[in-house]
Amino acid sequence: MAESQGAHMTPEEFRRHGHALIDWLADYHTRVAELPVRPSVEPGDVRAALPAHPPEHGEAFADVLSDLDEVIVPGLTHWQHPSFFGYFPANASGPSILGELAAAGLGVQGMLWETSPAVTELETHVLDWLAELLDLPARFLSHSVGGGVLQDSASSATLCALLAARERATDGAATSAGVDRALAVYASAEAHSSVEKAVRIAGLGTDALRLIDVDERYAMRPESLARQIAADRADGVLPCLVVATVGTTSSTAMDPLRATAEICGGEGPWLHVDAAMSGVAAVAPEHRGMHDGLELADSYCTNPHKWLLTNFDCDAFWVADRAPLLRALSVVPEYLRTAASEGGTAIDYRDWQVPLGRRFRALKLWFVLRHYGAEGLRAHIRHHVALAAELASWVEAHPDFELTAPVPQNLVCFHHRDGDERTARLRQTLNDSGELYLTHTRLDGRYTLRMAIGGVQTQREHVAAAWEAITTAASEPT
Ligand SMILES: *Cc1c(COP(=O)(O)O)cnc(C)c1O
Repeated sequence: MAESQGAHMTPEEFRRHGHALIDWLADYHTRVAELPVRPSVEPGDVRAALPAHPPEHGEAFADVLSDLDEVIVPGLTHWQHPSFFGYFPANASGPSILGELAAAGLGVQGMLWETSPAVTELETHVLDWLAELLDLPARFLSHSVGGGVLQDSASSATLCALLAARERATDGAATSAGVDRALAVYASAEAHSSVEKAVRIAGLGTDALRLIDVDERYAMRPESLARQIAADRADGVLPCLVVATVGTTSSTAMDPLRATAEICGGEGPWLHVDAAMSGVAAVAPEHRGMHDGLELADSYCTNPHKWLLTNFDCDAFWVADRAPLLRALSVVPEYLRTAASEGGTAIDYRDWQVPLGRRFRALKLWFVLRHYGAEGLRAHIRHHVALAAELASWVEAHPDFELTAPVPQNLVCFHHRDGDERTARLRQTLNDSGELYLTHTRLDGRYTLRMAIGGVQTQREHVAAAWEAITTAASEPT
């Protein structure tokens, strides 16, 4: 059959190739468990398999598709593999993939209400839904002066929180005249690297970041925070932002929100709560204790794109008062003036984020929430939390291994009792096997394995097989 390559794909070709691609993805998800989790490629191997120059003549879609098999898949680390336990989960569920496709297919821009009213209103609406599902404080809902927005990532949410905090702390001076006085940002020593990145991007400089020490559970010590803030004030430094982490990346440590908020005291530094991985667990009421005191925070974020069945990118970010955020980020050139915006009746999400243009991210989250329902979301979280608890019990019962942090949710941190070198070698052996994938961290200076359980396809058999592989590798002579 003649193909239109070199010209636009006809609707009929699009239909046919689209069906082929969906079939290909369905097959990929069916067979991903049989692939090695991590590819055995050296740097440069993937590029070496690609032509040096772009094609002069359009190519057949079938050839592009076959290169997914030949060139791309062999060079992937398979995040959707049921035995991928590294970093954090990156859930790509069926409804979310379809939502992503629908968003791409509609090809709309949601920077202003006017540029596509449904993009804005669906986003506001699903963020209110998600706030209800997580039982977040009412002040984050859109009918108050607060509200939610979808960001690409938790890193962007932290940056936006910092820009709003800087605006509020300096009464607008930093937004208009730049940062001309010493400001300080506080986060625990276990906080995510995106806090330091935000501090740099906002022009405060890394030295403005105060890393507060943690307790034996790796949670921020409020009394240390209070001391540091007092010392800064005495030195004429203006406390601008405190980032509390609910579920640190290294070990799911939970900073105490209420005590932290009381130190911020409403008038003081802005309190942003980073719950990128762990926050979504609040769909299950037994996990809501981590949010105690959240009603005192100024902003909050969590990532459905990690552990809530929504493919990257989808970070949900809420503010209790949108005014400082808008004052920090709203720049309105003539060509973007609209009656709806001027009337103040519509939300223009361009003012809630760094870029102007924006994707229709709400669609995939809406597909996910509707497909699973609250019940399905709870079951998803509980399934992994139960598996993590079971794995933790196996680690505790084993003479060679030891837990290195509490296991409140789906992340199990442990090491080999023989120490760092033994533990690091074990990880290398296991990852080289291709049967599972683990990443590491350091807790209290000790090399620690992290096993994050949260894959869409991850079942008990995969966790049990991983533990079997770990203990078998550990029992082999070294
Ligand atoms: C994963 C993670 C982040 C970064 O998330 P992105 O969305 O990739 O920017 C930030 N904070 C915590 C606590 C995380 O777990």
